[in-house]
Amino acid sequence: MALIYHFRLSKSNAFLLMGDKPILIDSGSPGDLPMLEKKLKKAGVMLEEIELLILTHAHFDHAGNAEAIRKRSNCKIAAHQAERNFLENGKNAAIKPCTMIATLMNPFMNIPFAATEVGIVVKDSFDLHPHGADAQIVSTPGHTSGSISVVTAGKEAIVGDLIGSGLLLGLFFPDRPRHHYWMENMNEVRASLKRLFAREIFKIHVGHGGPLNGMRAQNFFE
Ligand SMILES: [Zn+2]
Ligand SMILES: [Zn+2]
Repeated sequence: MALIYHFRLSKSNAFLLMGDKPILIDSGSPGDLPMLEKKLKKAGVMLEEIELLILTHAHFDHAGNAEAIRKRSNCKIAAHQAERNFLENGKNAAIKPCTMIATLMNPFMNIPFAATEVGIVVKDSFDLHPHGADAQIVSTPGHTSGSISVVTAGKEAIVGDLIGSGLLLGLFFPDRPRHHYWMENMNEVRASLKRLFAREIFKIHVGHGGPLNGMRAQNFFE
């Protein structure tokens, strides 16, 4: 069974999925690398040992250190085909605000990051068994059109920014589910949530704040 380690970075979370080999999910914002490396070390993993880096989507606060990690560890980067172009050009996918706060913050959100190489292009789903984890990548569009999630056999999900939490990106009340402040397509978010909850997920790890109780989140969104 794959263990999940939750790393809080400056603006977002990254996760270590520990099966037979270390898999990193998201990489934080530009500047977060020393912090991430320290937290990995505490979990017993050297940055160089990362075998696979999964990017939930092409936003600077998740993909910010992807290229630096790829260079150091020679890992493969997995991302959805709809995000590939953004990642390979160091550009953010759509940043569409859905609340007043997000609209006010939007001019400060388009931060560039180092362009990287996507070695594994995900479409609908991708089995992680060959990478040593009893888990699967699934397509969960909505926050951006190429957003993906990782679902483990133990019924935990790492969903990136498909779901938000608490107030001010999970700074307060991080265990309260909410819609994210930015969503490219609300209908797609709803459809992705429906497919996710059909898997009876008991714990949800989000890109900011969290984790969330699966049942509580399901009740909130349904
Ligand atoms: Zn995002
Ligand atoms: Zn984010």
